Amino acid sequence: MIEKDCMFCRIIRGEQPADFVHRGERIVAFKDIRPSAPVHILLVPRKHIRSVNELTPEDAPLAAEMILLAHALAEKTGIASSGYKLLFNVERGGGQFVFHLHLHLFGGWRPQ
Ligand code: AMP
Ligand code: ZN
Repeated sequence: MIEKDCMFCRIIRGEQPADFVHRGERIVAFKDIRPSAPVHILLVPRKHIRSVNELTPEDAPLAAEMILLAHALAEKTGIASSGYKLLFNVERGGGQFVFHLHLHLFGGWRPQ
């Protein structure tokens, strides 16, 4: 996959619309087009990284920032205290369909 053809690179470049909830220096976040939960947000680094398998030690601060941003967005969307799930699908066998690293944030179900 070259970046020109990558769906999430196209969204980041503004060539494809998305419902953004965050536009940061290193990471953007937008609503999943086919939500699997009442709140379903994708956190996407601006840097094109294929999957978790391609992360390097230099990417460690970015990976940490993704998790911290997930918490911040959970707070912002009001799901932090009720609870949420974070998910990286990794490669085809792990359910990854878009080969640009992204962290799923799911939540907003009725509290038990
Ligand atoms: P994954 O299976 O982890 O690769 O997840 C890819 C996710 O991206 C899926 O949940 C899709 O619904 C979502 N998706 C695909 N295209 C778009 C898009 N243009 N805007 C927002 N979400 C998208
Ligand atoms: Zn990309």
